[in-house]
Amino acid sequence: RSTRGNRHERPRIGIMGGTFDPIHNGHLVAASEVAWVYDLDEVIFVPTGRPVFKLDKQVTNAEDRYLMTVIATASNPQFTVSRVDIDRPGITYTIDTLRDLHAEYPDAELFFITGADAVAEILHWKDADGMWDLAHFVAVTRPGYSQPQTASIPISKKVDALEIPALAISSTDVRGRASRGEPVWYLVPDGVVQYIGKHGLYQG
Ligand code: ATP
Ligand code: MG
Repeated sequence: RSTRGNRHERPRIGIMGGTFDPIHNGHLVAASEVAWVYDLDEVIFVPTGRPVFKLDKQVTNAEDRYLMTVIATASNPQFTVSRVDIDRPGITYTIDTLRDLHAEYPDAELFFITGADAVAEILHWKDADGMWDLAHFVAVTRPGYSQPQTASIPISKKVDALEIPALAISSTDVRGRASRGEPVWYLVPDGVVQYIGKHGLYQG
């Protein structure tokens, strides 16, 4: 059954890619809202391996990011987590994510979900041309970033812009708060607060 209770001939699957260092409520609202508007059957969260746009930055090990993503999504029957990116060696490129998930779900219609900031990079993604055949792209609004500039993208008809409830939360801010001992309650799910504490993540 889909989000709106329908049965689709082809399963409609959202793909929410991210570093998820850590996953926060902004990611979850984005996935939930796209699932509702596009009547998806499922949203697969895909923590990145080595994110290509963060090669210069320190990133928490993949297993911790994966487990926090599992904890954050466990209570939603439509949310699942895939290991395709963290199990693939090397840098994560979205084209590889889409190819792997297409191979796993050959009958599904795929919807790649991205925030207003990340969509700006879309044309620079490896094999950008090949991505349009594999998935629809949905660019969601994000506080602090201008509306998704899909009009400036030549293939703009391939990228939908969607306004979602605004949550001014970033993983960078959550990491900073945790490192200073400030509260992260209600920015991330309770289980993720506990996981960060239990494993001493982001302790500077
Ligand atoms: P960091 O600060 O470490 O970059 P982040 O909060 O941007 O973390 P990412 O894992 O980089 O989180 O983001 C994954 C995806 O979620 C991206 O497409 C990003 O644009 C989107 N996203 C992140 N936070 C929000 C938010 N608050 N509202 C809407 N989209 C978001
Ligand atoms: Mg980011």
